Amino acid sequence: MSLMSLQGKIVFITGASAGIGAATALAFASEGARLLLAARRAGKLAEVASAALARGAPSVHSIDMDVRDHRAVQNAIDSLPAEWAEIDVLVNNAGLSRGLDKLYMGRIEDWEEMIDTNVKGLLYVTRAVVPGMVVRGRGHVINMGSTAGELTYPNGAVYCATKAAERSINDGLRQDVLGTPVRVTSVDPGMVETDFSLVRFRGDRDRAAKVYKGVKPLTADDIAEVIVWAAGRPAHVNIARVVLTPVQQANSLLFHRDG
Ligand code: NAP
Repeated sequence: MSLMSLQGKIVFITGASAGIGAATALAFASEGARLLLAARRAGKLAEVASAALARGAPSVHSIDMDVRDHRAVQNAIDSLPAEWAEIDVLVNNAGLSRGLDKLYMGRIEDWEEMIDTNVKGLLYVTRAVVPGMVVRGRGHVINMGSTAGELTYPNGAVYCATKAAERSINDGLRQDVLGTPVRVTSVDPGMVETDFSLVRFRGDRDRAAKVYKGVKPLTADDIAEVIVWAAGRPAHVNIARVVLTPVQQANSLLFHRDG
């Protein structure tokens, strides 16, 4: 069984400026992959790019890109320098939650931001990148799902709906590339300690810290390891879905908290 070498492969990661995306960039860097990193915060992206080069990535190219803007996404992919155009692995990771409210009290702006980023953004990037993979006869799309997509939790209906949509899109894409060598994987974590809760609560650190109280959460590195593992399977193996949670989490609703 020959594993897929990631050495020199072009790996495109959205939401690479923080959290799971940044950790994934470093994990692929350790395997010698070339990295295309995208996010909106260019300064943070530059920090991740230097760390990736220090870890062993042979080269890094950063793109300032908002996944909600489909023209900007298509333009960014169409105008890649020739040596970066042949993307081998796409990690559709950019995403966020906003607010934790009863559905009938939710903010419309929050819903739009989550749907535009987590669902439409993921579709735009997929639409721009996958045709090239099909033509070249190689490629792997790794989508960031969540346990939230399997079981809706109270006050989180819209975020959970975006991750349920990811699940459908992931499964649909796998069916639609059947007959090509392109692989499609969803990685579905439970609780991971990143800026996720800080973003959800718009910078309220105390509220964000409470989310992880009494639980040893997953780290961004735990998720990055699974993503790199899925990408490194032999070419005939498709990992359809990986669900991983902290030991203190049974599903998106049920936790065992210390104390
Ligand atoms: P994070 O630390 O807040 O990172 C989110 C990343 O997404 C940032 O790099 C951010 O970059 C990027 N992003 C957000 N909106 C964007 C946009 N419009 N265009 C481009 N990039 C955008 O959170 P994280 O936990 O690593 O989240 C990464 C993914 O994991 C998300 O899809 C999230 O839903 C999923 N997830 C997280 C958890 C968890 O518990 N943390 C669990 C399951 C799934 P910029 O702000 O610089 O653009």
